[in-house]
Order: sequence, then structure tokens, then C-alpha cells
Amino acid sequence: MPTRSSDVSTLAIHGGRTLDPQTSSLIFPLYQTGIFVHDAVGVDKGYSYSRVSNPTVDALEKALGALEGTPPAVCFRTGMAATTTLFLSLLKAGDHAVLSEVVYGGTIRLFREVLDHLGVKSSFVDTSDLQAVESAMTPATRIVFVETPGNPTLKLTDIAGVAPIAKRHGCLLAVDNTFLTPVLQKPFELGADISVLSTTKYIDGHNATVGGSLAARDEVLLERFRLIRKTIGAIQAPFDAWLTLQGVKTLPARLRLHCENAAVIARWLEAHPAVARVYFPGLDSFPQKALAERQQSGPGGIVSFELKAPSETAIKMLNSLKLCLRAESLGGLETLLTHPPSTTHADLDPEYRRRIGISDGFIRISVGLESARDIIADLEQAFAEAGIGAHAQEEPHEVR
Ligand code: PLP
Repeated sequence: MPTRSSDVSTLAIHGGRTLDPQTSSLIFPLYQTGIFVHDAVGVDKGYSYSRVSNPTVDALEKALGALEGTPPAVCFRTGMAATTTLFLSLLKAGDHAVLSEVVYGGTIRLFREVLDHLGVKSSFVDTSDLQAVESAMTPATRIVFVETPGNPTLKLTDIAGVAPIAKRHGCLLAVDNTFLTPVLQKPFELGADISVLSTTKYIDGHNATVGGSLAARDEVLLERFRLIRKTIGAIQAPFDAWLTLQGVKTLPARLRLHCENAAVIARWLEAHPAVARVYFPGLDSFPQKALAERQQSGPGGIVSFELKAPSETAIKMLNSLKLCLRAESLGGLETLLTHPPSTTHADLDPEYRRRIGISDGFIRISVGLESARDIIADLEQAFAEAGIGAHAQEEPHEVR
């Protein structure tokens, strides 16, 4: 029974809720099957083949739609399958897309390695600058794709500022909302047409699955996404949908704690003498704090920072961690650290990388749900092992 509450905590548990018609099982069952039998030729119970649709995937799509404030979302095998389907659904050779330049590396690779070869044109621009967005629009532009906060510098794009530009040029606006989810940022209320999520991250929240979703208010768009998903075979697997469905229910509660812990870690880093700069929308020093307060209902759980040290020191620090883990993903219970210049953004041109603010000593933390005191204690000992502990900083430190 769908809830009438608009409170996100209630919506996450009861919104779009589906009871199994046969058993009314509290937890929606896992329909782990590829195939559904037809009662007679041309007569089925709404399902035929799990590349097209599956009841467990449908249940997740309803739950996500309830959070997004849209009809049921369309779920994919990975976040990149969702992003790929988005562009394949809407673009053909000769069309043009405008994208944030601070964006998940895989989205850049999708254009460089696939869509460019199919004749789709793109401009990666600083979408935090509305004038830059306006200048990038051409008569062939069909879509504006923004990621906010951007990965990994957390640069924000003013969604409500970009929406009228896209509309004026007859384009759709898509927002990759992976870092905040609809709990902390509502793209549709800000004028977006499509929301993209890598459910791998906060939505699942337990690092158990990979997945993605596309949401829209327009049924014609949703139908197009389903058609392309069926055609390229990119639907979410039933078991991963089932696991993700359990994660959705605790999303608001988890995000509250992620935000709280991240604020504590960001303040600790900002006071550390070996840290040149901290990127966190909740800090007073964050250049776009006013926009964050207007557009988001929380700072999120990601904190990035730059060490006053070269790449080797950053890597040594990461290799000295004992509690926090070295891993490239984000949004789960465990605190994960990554060094984007040598991992997620390694195959970008170094000049491009530096231009978008990813210096050699750049580190991203996905702050988990452990005690903030224990996370800081681990960072403290790892900084000390790398020779950049607070104590070492009392001596003059060579900054490169
Ligand atoms: N969008 C963002 C912002 C991401 O961080 C990622 C992955 O890290 C993706 C999309 C791609 O998602 P997936 O890894 O689930 O394919």
C-alpha cells in the first residue's frame, strides 16, 4: 500500500511498497528466474523474460520512484549501464551533449571511447559557470548532463540555474545525483528532466551490489529507456535488485549519520597542518556553501582534500591505513579512501586532471558509519606513518 506521507524516512520504508500478491510476505520476494511461463499462447501474467522485466526489479523501481517523486524508475545492471542507456536513448550521430567537466571518469570514457566513434559530439564544460553552459549550447545540443556535487572535487552546479538554459535551447537536463540521492537533493523540484543514480553507492549502501537507475516524470522518456534497456540487455539482476531494495529502507537514516561523521572528519582535516585544502560543502570555507544550503538538504558523506605533499606521500598515507579501507567506491558503511590521480581519474590527460582541480596529493574519503573518533585515530596514525603527522608539521615542511 503506497504511503501518503511525504516525509522521506517514511517514504524510504513504505513508499511504492509492493506486497507479493500470493503470500503478502513483508519482504518482497526474490523472483530469481529468467523466464515466466505463458498461461496460453499470448497470455501471461505481465512477465515473460527477465531481460525485459522482473517483479523484484519492478519492486525496486517503485521504491526508487517514490523517493524521486516520479513514476517507477528504470533500473540497470550498473550505474554506467544507466548512463549509457540515457545517451543511447536520446542521441544520434551529429547530436551534441553538454556535460560537467568535473564528472565521474567513466562518463568521460563513455564519450571518448564509444559515443565519439558513433558521431555524437560533446563539450565538457565548467557547469558551475552558467555563462559557460550557455556558451557551449549549439543548435545540435540535445541534452545537458550535470553531476553535482562533482566527483571528486565536489564542485557544485546550480541545477535551478542550468534548467532554464536547457529549456530555452529545447534540451533535456539530466542530473547525476549519485553523491546525494533524492534524500538530500531533489533534481525534479529544481527543474531537471531526468535523474541518474549509481545505486551501487548510497542506495544499496552495503557494498553488496552494483546497479543504476534512471527516473523521469515523462512516461514517454521512461518507455524509451525501457526499450533501449531491453535492446542492449542492461536490466538489473533480480538478486541485486532485492538486496538494493533492502538498502533503500535505511537510506535516510544512514545519510544522516554519513553527513554527521563527514562534518567531523572535514573539520579535523581542515585544522591539520599537512592539509592544503579541504573540499566539503558543509564547511564555511567551501566556496559554494550558499548554493549547497539552497540546493541540498545536507552536505553529503564525501570529503576530499589535498595534502601539501607529493603523490608518493599520499600513497604512503593510504597504504598505512589500518581501519579505513583503500577502495574506489563510495556510499557504503565502511570508510573508504581513494587517490583519484592514480585510480579513478588515472587515464585522464594529466593537464585536464590538474585543470579540474585534481592535484597529485588529492585524496577522497567516503566517510562511513564507524565512530568518527576511530576514523580520525586511523587517519592520525596513517599521517604519522607517512611522515606528515601533526607533530612532524611543527618542523618546516617542504611543499612541492
Ligand atoms: N556516477 C557517479 C557519480 C559515480 O561515482 C559512479 C561510479 O563511481 C557512476 C556514476 C557509475 O556507476 P557504476 O559504478 O555503478 O557503474
